Amino acid sequence: MRICVLGSGSKGNSTYVETEHSKILIDAGLSNKELETRLELLKINPNDIDAILITHEHSDHIKGVGQFAKKHNAKIFANRKSWDYISNKFDDIPTNCQIEFSGQDFWVNDLAVQTFDVDHDSLSCVGFSVVENNKRFTIATDLGHVTQNVVEKLKQSDFVVLESNHDIETLKKNPNYPYVLKQRILSNHGHISNDTCAETILQMLGYKTRAVLLAHLSEQNNSPSLALNTLNQKLLLNQIDSREMFFVDVANQNKPSNIFKLKNVE
Ligand SMILES: [Zn+2]
Ligand SMILES: [Zn+2]
Repeated sequence: MRICVLGSGSKGNSTYVETEHSKILIDAGLSNKELETRLELLKINPNDIDAILITHEHSDHIKGVGQFAKKHNAKIFANRKSWDYISNKFDDIPTNCQIEFSGQDFWVNDLAVQTFDVDHDSLSCVGFSVVENNKRFTIATDLGHVTQNVVEKLKQSDFVVLESNHDIETLKKNPNYPYVLKQRILSNHGHISNDTCAETILQMLGYKTRAVLLAHLSEQNNSPSLALNTLNQKLLLNQIDSREMFFVDVANQNKPSNIFKLKNVE
């Protein structure tokens, strides 16, 4: 399995996942044109995308979905509540592209997909675990808080994309953010901070995960170095050298991430 986060943050999210027989996007929150450009950087023909899985209906996750699905004939998988919103917003998505999932596992060719609920201030919000043979990738962003169920999904995964949205003090001091917006982000239904992300990673140590990509960083209230420093300090406090445990990297809003390859063991 190969995974690349094409873009991550409040200006648009999309992640590319490829197996032997399928090519999918998780979310399509960049414009159709930007999705095409970033896929072409990876030498992927957008027409080869089989499906787009939708986490939730916020525009930073669905902006390009209508145009991309229509132009490139990709199936869209979303749950009922997300569809209620998406089919209203994009009224010309071909019906044969609209597929509803309902909490049960489903398949996209050889790729098994599991969903899990996360608490976020949208109509509904899910994370995804995708499995090819014995390799598992999990993406969990837009988390109001981290439930034990989410931790269990992460612990079982070889590779994880996990939200590290903001530095709490930077957010609180930001003069450009109104009080209500700060309260929304900090609430149990908003986004998780660097501290919460680091505490979650501590709970994953010693299980399956070998690589973590920090994602959905706020451009104003965070930076890659702040997110990484928070994690490293937390690990140091617990006398853990993360380099021995797993590889950590940060996803970018403006360009694709590194490509992560999960090799199947025969
Ligand atoms: Zn959201
Ligand atoms: Zn988001």
